[in-house]
Amino acid sequence: MTRTDGRVGQGATVLSLCLLGALAGCDPAPAGPTPGRPSFDGNVALELVHRQVDFGPRVPGTVGHTAQLDWMLARLDSLAPVVQADTFTHVTSSAADTLTLTNVLARFNPEAKRRLLLLAHWDTRPTSDAEADVAKRTEPVPGANDGASGTAVLLTLAALMNETSPPATLGVDLLFVDGEDFGPGVEDMLLGARRYAETVSEDDRPVYGLLLDMVGDADPSFPVEGYSAQAANVVVQKVWRAAERLGYRSYFPTAVGQTLTDDHVPLIQAGISTANLIDFTYGPNNAYWHTAQDLPDKLSSSTLGMVGEVVAELVYSGG
Ligand SMILES: [Zn+2]
Repeated sequence: MTRTDGRVGQGATVLSLCLLGALAGCDPAPAGPTPGRPSFDGNVALELVHRQVDFGPRVPGTVGHTAQLDWMLARLDSLAPVVQADTFTHVTSSAADTLTLTNVLARFNPEAKRRLLLLAHWDTRPTSDAEADVAKRTEPVPGANDGASGTAVLLTLAALMNETSPPATLGVDLLFVDGEDFGPGVEDMLLGARRYAETVSEDDRPVYGLLLDMVGDADPSFPVEGYSAQAANVVVQKVWRAAERLGYRSYFPTAVGQTLTDDHVPLIQAGISTANLIDFTYGPNNAYWHTAQDLPDKLSSSTLGMVGEVVAELVYSGG
């Protein structure tokens, strides 16, 4: 994703959960997780981050990209009742290269009309643009946090939903989008999310979406992202209140943080209210973002576990 110039209320606007929850009448949040829901194991998710990074960079057109796609499809085929791969091409505006990209959609309770969309990008950035050392900027990003973390949480959740179905009235669609981070400019980014937004049928449209991006940092903080606060306030309310009732309030501040051009934006533009759960403070002064330092040793199973618990709470409480 990229930072957007104008920051929304950075450091100044602090919305209380009550204010965020005004539409819902600000009911007090119940304590503790939804009874009977399965728990999410962050160690499993961290192992899946390692598996992905071991494929090498997952840049479109590389062997790592192909290996990861094959691995994800095999895994999801064994876990989800419906798995759809949507392969498409994009001609880059930077170099007129043709990229072959694939979105993967795994659908649980596929017959349910009311659907929740959870998405993450699975590709990684071809260039380490943010490296201080100019000579290193041509190296690909390993993408432990920026790519593998959100994907790992969704793959772990797929295994959970295979064991224990979500409530029957709730359909859950896991969307693994490609081409989020190709770049370098935004016209060659968010490609899989744009594709989904353009092609999703009226019958398949989710009631709302939640994007997971950079969700594994060992030093976590998830303020509310700017576009999410503006355009997906009801979703923000659901997610941050789920975090609060699980006891994670200190890691999910309700302050509005940075405004980021990420995969939720094309969905919002298509009328699908989508929030971005992202920790955009990755290392000192964000030093690990879009650099060769984005490696699994910067992540922790407890952060992945916390995010997974929040998402599982969202799903098993009925969305
Ligand atoms: Zn990125």
